[in-house]
Amino acid sequence: MLVDALNRPIKDLRISVTDRCNFRCSYCMPLDEYDWIHKKEILTFEEISRLATLFVRLGVEKIRLTGGEPLVRQNLDRLVAKLSSIGGLKDLCLTTNGALLAEKVSALKASGLKRVNISVDSLNPEKFRQMTKRGDLSKVLEGIFAAKQHGLHPIKLNAVIEKGLNEDDILSLVEFSRDNGFALRFIEYMDVGNSNDWTSGKLVSKKEIIDKINAQYPLKEVGRAGGSAPSVDYEFIDGRGDVGVIASVTEPFCSSCTRVRLTADGKIVTCLFSGIGHDVKGLLRGGATDEEISKFIVSIWEKRADRYSAERLEALRSANYDPKNHKKIEMISLGG
Ligand code: SAM
Ligand code: SF4
Ligand code: SF4
Repeated sequence: MLVDALNRPIKDLRISVTDRCNFRCSYCMPLDEYDWIHKKEILTFEEISRLATLFVRLGVEKIRLTGGEPLVRQNLDRLVAKLSSIGGLKDLCLTTNGALLAEKVSALKASGLKRVNISVDSLNPEKFRQMTKRGDLSKVLEGIFAAKQHGLHPIKLNAVIEKGLNEDDILSLVEFSRDNGFALRFIEYMDVGNSNDWTSGKLVSKKEIIDKINAQYPLKEVGRAGGSAPSVDYEFIDGRGDVGVIASVTEPFCSSCTRVRLTADGKIVTCLFSGIGHDVKGLLRGGATDEEISKFIVSIWEKRADRYSAERLEALRSANYDPKNHKKIEMISLGG
């Protein structure tokens, strides 16, 4: 089995299919203009599925399509069809802001997509617009219900909570998810990229989120799915659903991190907080064999020793952390 320098296997591949996005979320990509990847640098669907097949042969079991906003990439269903036919792949998922989902879900489902994660941080249309700058909540809700209607399951909702901005939305998101059978996951606001001006003062911790929910709807901790999933999950004691929190800042899970990322322009990135990626597009377009490309992936993974969130927590505890000292690849290139 392929393992990294800290004995972690390679199991999950996150593929960013584009760095473009139709939203400008304050915590992710607030900038109107950015040095977007040039079209000819973007991997084709054939290139992505060739790489994905090699990753699966090396141990990857789950693939998540992400972005930027993956649904702004034309004909994404064709990529879904290619990936869902890879032998040995156990799970294929899409993470989307949902704005274009209603119009695309039928083709995605027909191509083999079974489940979806949709990001929605507030159910208040004005607040939603404020946080996403360009988002229309009604379109996202349409997308969420279209996914449900088409039988995608589970439908997971992701919500980033930012201090002073949408803490008030925690309970309404919980109620909405419970009423409709969606699996809700809160995400602690992280210092991804360099554009969001993160400070620890903007963080709402897992403990604060859980305390707030528990006071209204009592919870029982069930832990991490499979013992190693990023989200710590809780069941509602009344039996009506569950909720989770991805506490990357206050309870890092680096020791069980099995995720590798592929950027839209063909860079392999071994940590969400990396400053560099390893270019595989050169090999792909330079005529390398499958064996040569696999060897390249193996050589990257074997050296991997990333544990950024664990180190961040140590630095935060000693009041010795300034995100500006760490140059990182933007979240829109990595896709979460
Ligand atoms: N555009 C899609 C979406 O928003 O779902 C996919 C890409 S987005 C980068 C993937 C996930 O990252 C989303 O759930 C988003 O909320 C989350 N995310 C972005 N910036 C974040 C931050 N600073 N802290 C925590 N999560 C963040
Ligand atoms: Fe776009 Fe998703 Fe980032 Fe929001 S979180 S700016 S929707 S990529
Ligand atoms: Fe994995 Fe890096 Fe996140 Fe740690 S900080 S869990 S190594 S992606």
